[in-house]
Amino acid sequence: MTDCIFCKLANKEIPVEPIIETDFVIVLKDRAPVAKEHVLVIPKNHTEDITKTPVDVIAHVAHAAAVYAREHMPNGSRIIINTGTDGGQTVRHFHAHVIGGEKLKDL
Ligand code: AMP
Ligand code: ZN
Repeated sequence: MTDCIFCKLANKEIPVEPIIETDFVIVLKDRAPVAKEHVLVIPKNHTEDITKTPVDVIAHVAHAAAVYAREHMPNGSRIIINTGTDGGQTVRHFHAHVIGGEKLKDL
């Protein structure tokens, strides 16, 4: 999709250093971390949010998030998917946050 920042990152139209890359997703550091560790899992194909995303893409994102959490956040983590206006989604390209590396405040 033109003018989508996450499409540009996922398709390497702008420089990016993915921590993990598969055929379906990239994992990269969030540029404004809210905890010691904060990464984004971004699917390579554009969909607006989880409600408009095929289940296989959701599964690839969930799997990458789980693998990252298991390997990098042994004491636990929080996996968040902001959705739409009420959910505070600022980038309208489906993605998951994986947050951890320290004790997080209770929700
Ligand atoms: P959300 O509110 O779920 O849409 O979150 C979007 C996230 O993307 C925010 O945490 C931003 O800090 C992050 N973000 C936006 N642009 C970039 C970028 N170019 N590189 C890394 N993280 C980004
Ligand atoms: Zn996009």
